[in-house]
Amino acid sequence: MLTEKEKLETYEKFRERYLRKTEEEAIQIVQDAYEEAKKVIPEGHVATYIPELGKVDPNQLGICIYRMNGEKICIGDAQVRFTMQSVSKILSLCVALELLGPDEVFKVVGAEPSGEAFNSIVELDLNSNRPYNPLINSGALAIAGLLVSKVSFYDMLAAARKLCVDPDITINDAAYESEMKTCSRNRAIAYLLESKGIITTDVEETLKFYTKLCSLNVTAESLANFAKILASDGVCSKTGKRYLSGRTVRIVKTLMLTCGMYDGSGAYAITVGIPTKSGVGGGLLCVSDKRAGIGVFGPALDEKGNSVAGIKLLEQISQKLCLNLFFDPDWEDADQSSMLISE
Ligand code: GLN
Repeated sequence: MLTEKEKLETYEKFRERYLRKTEEEAIQIVQDAYEEAKKVIPEGHVATYIPELGKVDPNQLGICIYRMNGEKICIGDAQVRFTMQSVSKILSLCVALELLGPDEVFKVVGAEPSGEAFNSIVELDLNSNRPYNPLINSGALAIAGLLVSKVSFYDMLAAARKLCVDPDITINDAAYESEMKTCSRNRAIAYLLESKGIITTDVEETLKFYTKLCSLNVTAESLANFAKILASDGVCSKTGKRYLSGRTVRIVKTLMLTCGMYDGSGAYAITVGIPTKSGVGGGLLCVSDKRAGIGVFGPALDEKGNSVAGIKLLEQISQKLCLNLFFDPDWEDADQSSMLISE
């Protein structure tokens, strides 16, 4: 075990290595990236398959970054409320892992990327008896089936408020009603899961539970708080309390890297390299391990359902702020072509 002094020294070394940019430099980097990212908003569209989301102004963009040295940088629409949508899959996965442990959870879902759209049903029926992973709709519905008989929606709301350090999170009733009226596809997935013995609780209750969690109103800042807890192995630096076990956090971050952006996860891992979960409300929850927690809101989406300007913004800052998981700040000049073959 490290002494407190040794822990601090380790932390200082880490800071020296990864948090080299001063606050002023970091603000400038984020501001420049923000301006660049705004330009790609017209390439995206707000989700309309949930009619209420179709009413959202696509031109909004906000980012909040907490770096581990304690500073907070918020730019643009970082305080605007929007629905969590699939970012809530991280919340339910965390609660399920804490409550039931990985063995129970991975009985009903796998841990592999699906390579299919977030609401795909095909591969579930044809290739597998379990959803590929907990971060696509089928997987999150399976997790909701596990949770619905064990915790109430209000327990989940309380957990969301704690993890997002945001007591003002409420359910967006209009978005909830709107999605419940148009969720035939999720209903079909949920009944298919029942037919396969994955959902063993009431299907309609499971569907309501899942959709309510998708309808929680958060901000980019609340997502940054949640991301920061995940980046600090489950401990909230504001309260000093551990909210999640190290084991839960490791599993969640790994799945975010491999599956968090659906069938765009691989390319995103290459260009950004920060474990992230997206939602069709425009949210991105991004965990730069031990370096920063980031929340983004950008409701104009690409064809995979991920925030188009949000991705652009993260592409711009990941290297410059040394947030890419695989970027080594001691080799900043290493991106030149290799001599491997020509020598
Ligand atoms: N509530 C949405 C759905 O189930 C969430 C999807 C998403 O954010 N990708 O379709």
